[in-house]
Amino acid sequence: MSTGKVVTFSSLGMRARGTCGCADEDVQALVRAALAARQRAYCPYSRFQVGAALLTTDGETFDGCNVESASYTPTICAERTAVVKAVSCGRRQFSSVAVVAHLEDSYVAPCGVCRQLLAEFGLDVAVYLAKVDLSSVLVTDLRALLPLSFGKY
Ligand SMILES: [Zn+2]
Repeated sequence: MSTGKVVTFSSLGMRARGTCGCADEDVQALVRAALAARQRAYCPYSRFQVGAALLTTDGETFDGCNVESASYTPTICAERTAVVKAVSCGRRQFSSVAVVAHLEDSYVAPCGVCRQLLAEFGLDVAVYLAKVDLSSVLVTDLRALLPLSFGKY
């Protein structure tokens, strides 16, 4: 994956939000929330556990895990689970999302459907793709992951 910057988990600190006046983001806490959500994944078919944690611009975290179905189509990814939870609680402004899953040689990024749903609420979202052992994190953003996006912009 060429877009983004690989950093160590321990180097993740507080991300200043800048102009909005909101609190700084604790990026390590967001990644840990995604890691914890991953443990609750329901994935008896793929056995591929994914956790996500979505941070609102006012500092609230909504986590999610993938939930599979025997008929496959109703399966939902961790990222969309988090978005659905947040939106159903009345939150629509997001600043960051962390995703944790395990692949030996790569980071796990949101699928195209999840990227599109995240983009529905804005492209200014930092994305943290972490290894399950927290050895490293690929830092990128939604604009980089969804260039020339389709949307209401
Ligand atoms: Zn997805």
